[in-house]
Amino acid sequence: MNRSNIEWTEVTWNPTTGCTKVSTGCKNCYAERWANMQHKRGINQYRNGFDLTLAVERLNDPLKWKKPQIVFVNSMSDLFHDKVETDYIKKIFSVMNNTPQHTYQILTKRIERVKDLSDSIFWSDNIWLGVSVENNDFVERIEILKKTFAKVKFISFEPLLSKIKYNDFTDIDWVLVGGESGGNARKVEKEWIKSIRDNCKRQNTAFFFKQWGKRIFNPNPKDPTIDRKHPFYAKGGCMVDDKIYREYPNIE
Ligand code: SF4
Repeated sequence: MNRSNIEWTEVTWNPTTGCTKVSTGCKNCYAERWANMQHKRGINQYRNGFDLTLAVERLNDPLKWKKPQIVFVNSMSDLFHDKVETDYIKKIFSVMNNTPQHTYQILTKRIERVKDLSDSIFWSDNIWLGVSVENNDFVERIEILKKTFAKVKFISFEPLLSKIKYNDFTDIDWVLVGGESGGNARKVEKEWIKSIRDNCKRQNTAFFFKQWGKRIFNPNPKDPTIDRKHPFYAKGGCMVDDKIYREYPNIE
């Protein structure tokens, strides 16, 4: 298992690696940069660079973990990529179904495929499903998510690239927001973040603000969470109007 630096999970599990870009949010994909680096270092799991690759040797890893974990599934890929065969997705679901001690978080930009898989996979209560939405062109992903059978549904507005007009969070348990990080990061605006936060508050949806992405994007240069020694340190800081938002869905 790999301990994760991602603020909203504990560990990552990558039974596939690699992907292809589908929308503007993919432009500065971290998984691509990481895959290319690991490929250059000769790491076997990344022998194909960023091409979609099944990591069969990782498939049963969660069966070996005794302690319950919150697991981000495929942080370096997209589980519903069309090059991941249905039989392999079924095997991944079987592992998740058979390890109820763990909580799995699947995040995808390819939610359309979930509709076609509905007869092949079982959404046990420990599997959360989320969609990435970067701007208003992709809010349709939320509508499709709402029609799935996942017990816990979430949206990741990261990297947030515009003000989101869509504001119906009915049946959405959790909303994550983050600015883009890295050398070519695109700027996130405070107004965009607050608009989503306020919609969450109105609709009683858990809200988690991950990071501003870069220090220069954060309108408060004195945000203490910019400091690496802060317990809630995040890239560029993570306070909005002097408050840290780290809510989780109520799953009782
Ligand atoms: S879907 Fe995710 S992993 Fe795939 S290219 Fe886009 S950002 Fe990267």
